[in-house]
Amino acid sequence: MSVQFNRPDIIRPPSEWKSYFLPLTSGCSNNTCTFCGYYGSKLNTIGVDDIKREIDAVALYRQSGICLAAISPVVYAVAHGWDGKRVFLQDGDALVYPFAKLGEVLHYLNEKLPYVERVGTYATPQDILRKSPNELDELRRLKLGIFYMGMESGDDEVLQKVGKGVNRYQIVEAGGKAREAGITLSVTVILGLGGVDGSEKHALETATVLTAIDPDYVGALTLTLIPGTPLYEQWKQGNFNPISPFQSLEELKKIIENTSFSDCFFSSMHASNYLSVRGKLPRDKEKMVGELGHVMASGDPSLLRPEFLRGL
Ligand code: SF4
Repeated sequence: MSVQFNRPDIIRPPSEWKSYFLPLTSGCSNNTCTFCGYYGSKLNTIGVDDIKREIDAVALYRQSGICLAAISPVVYAVAHGWDGKRVFLQDGDALVYPFAKLGEVLHYLNEKLPYVERVGTYATPQDILRKSPNELDELRRLKLGIFYMGMESGDDEVLQKVGKGVNRYQIVEAGGKAREAGITLSVTVILGLGGVDGSEKHALETATVLTAIDPDYVGALTLTLIPGTPLYEQWKQGNFNPISPFQSLEELKKIIENTSFSDCFFSSMHASNYLSVRGKLPRDKEKMVGELGHVMASGDPSLLRPEFLRGL
């Protein structure tokens, strides 16, 4: 493994908890989002030969239980108990990895670990937009089957303020490209990103853009202010007014009420949220809105996830 490349910590979508975590990069190529722990991170990539060496080590370990001294113990810690079905490519936007090399890695992975059913990755809208339809098609054929795309907000004002680097039209276009290529699309939105003043517009415009994308999955997170990020500093200086836990439920309810999907699994199960609701939309809309309405009407904070149990 190259000396300069430090294996990133595992930051993953909740649904990838059973996956093998294979690093291609560390950091994020779009490191300008003012709320994100990757803000200012430096993008590093690992060489194809090193990735192949890790794949070989995992294949050997699964076949015979042999651990090679030259391979990082982390590889075996991750491989231990892995069911062999899913692989998640690290890190913040592994889809930025050059297309030809990504194809080579996926080819190799399919050859050495043929039982893998699906490979997933975080993908920025920019990463998707840079790929041609043929390239996306090729990646899907190589089992790259799901993109986790951070949309965060459908409100251009919010997107611009937080340095997302794309507008709502580009987000819709990126989502459409992934879906046209037959790649499952999971979109993340962040409750509270517009602060108190922008709350209603953020929720309504997020619902509009989600409807336009019509993704397979939506995951709602709630903003957590991370020390060291510009948004945290803005809050400290009184320039950002965060929403309350109950206001986050209000935003979530507005988003669910105002979206119109053909068939989408919508969830707020992420540990950052104050209340977990989930269901298939449109089928479960009434039930989910009802659950949120019930807790909101109670005004009872004991029904919410306590602050100390919230996670990133
Ligand atoms: S939100 Fe996504 S695109 Fe923005 S810095 Fe974080 S990982 Fe990168």
